[in-house]
Amino acid sequence: MEKPKLTIDEMAAFCKRKGFVYPNSEIYGGIAGFYDFGHLGVELKNNIKKEWWKTFVQQREDIVGIDGSIITNPMVWKASGHVEGFTDVLVDCKKCGSRFRGDQLIEDKLKIATAGMSTDDVAQELKRHKVKCPKCGSELGEPNRFNLMFTTNVGPVQITASAAYLRPETAQIIFADFKLVQENARLKLPFGIAQIGKAFRNEISPRDFLFRMREFEQMEIEYFVHPEKQEECKFIDDVMDYELNVLSAEMQKEKKNMQKMPIKECLNKKIIKTKWHAYWLASMHKWFVDLGADAEHFRIRQHVKDELSHYALDTWDLEYEFPFGWKELQGLSNRTDFDLKQHMGYSKTDLSIFDEETKKKIIPHVICEPSQGVERAFLVFMFDAYEYDKKRENVVLKLHPKLCPIKIGVFPLVSNKKEIVELAKKIHNELKQEWTCTFDLSGSIGRRYARADEIGIYACVTIDHESLEDESITIRARDTTEQVRVKIKDLKEVLRKFMDGENLGKLGENVE
Ligand SMILES: [Zn+2]
Repeated sequence: MEKPKLTIDEMAAFCKRKGFVYPNSEIYGGIAGFYDFGHLGVELKNNIKKEWWKTFVQQREDIVGIDGSIITNPMVWKASGHVEGFTDVLVDCKKCGSRFRGDQLIEDKLKIATAGMSTDDVAQELKRHKVKCPKCGSELGEPNRFNLMFTTNVGPVQITASAAYLRPETAQIIFADFKLVQENARLKLPFGIAQIGKAFRNEISPRDFLFRMREFEQMEIEYFVHPEKQEECKFIDDVMDYELNVLSAEMQKEKKNMQKMPIKECLNKKIIKTKWHAYWLASMHKWFVDLGADAEHFRIRQHVKDELSHYALDTWDLEYEFPFGWKELQGLSNRTDFDLKQHMGYSKTDLSIFDEETKKKIIPHVICEPSQGVERAFLVFMFDAYEYDKKRENVVLKLHPKLCPIKIGVFPLVSNKKEIVELAKKIHNELKQEWTCTFDLSGSIGRRYARADEIGIYACVTIDHESLEDESITIRARDTTEQVRVKIKDLKEVLRKFMDGENLGKLGENVE
């Protein structure tokens, strides 16, 4: 089946038309970088978060979760380096006053990738190429650094002492709470602490719909290991044969293409430095693929020397091929003991833990920090699910059943026969105890199937005249349009199996 590539603007239009995502406060002209999730979007977003939490917290014995506050003591951001270093290069047009982000100007105007550039490099490149204002063509002013944190005031008096920040990442709350969580959850190394929550970045120019927003949600894990046991990854055998598209720093330097290889090879050739890093890269990739994303649309890319953050020893991004190019989905950095040490220094609190084996106090290392934007995951699943079906002449949103905003549609074949509508309502009431369902009796059955396909409803249950006689109904599969006849008493069991991935054709009597 043909799968035409949607642009990001077309995806934004589709999301708005179908009730997934709206521009925030559009009746007032909106506000750049802020979006609202509609009745279907909120379900999809919640399902993504639920699946992530289930996989990385609830089904594991080595990771626990927290839910931290958005506003925190501003010292947290001094210790983390954000007050000093969380900046972008900003340039103003001398004539029209328009503001631009330095790295984006370079990418747009000079077609040079800025992924490996420091803020100083960005400023230099702008000057060297004498980049002009894209709006009016005039000269640009001196590049300035601009801190991306949103500020606010705590309490009724707006003085400097009351200034605080909206958190630009969830990670630091994990470090600040580290000691309490470790002790109370009785965590033994290696272990992780996970969090899902809002973060805020005052992006100079938000763009590409949900890709670069000013208010967004993160799903993050800080994974801690013993500083002397960084090579002991007890889960590595689970992923040794797992294959990924790989683009190392060296391959980038030599202008080589990405190459598909198993984790085993990445480790043997020392392309990925630590087993833990390799393990987490594979695990995060697998999470997407298990939920229906196309493995070929992903690659892992190592940061080149210049783009490593101030705290990171080695960073790999999990990237996805968006319509606007390969972009970061998830940054997985090795943060060493940088954060815990910083917080120990600034807070004068001992955050080390006691190692039973060596009877010594140690400061654990964050071997890997898988950090995923919820909205970027949302885009991935939407792009990979979207398909225009020429034969049906409508869009079919092939979301994984675990992610579908609405799992089941219940349709009485006709709306003017009371007994049929009543039976359909009874079935609907029963099914919605277990799944998200919708009840639709308007328009032809074909039209209702098309509407269901477009919003990704996984199965449609149709109640017709015969249902009153034979106590059976018809189930239609979204992906294949296959239809089977099933006894009402078996309906729930059949749907459960179908949602679990069983072939619908084998679960009932085929309907021509
Ligand atoms: Zn200008």
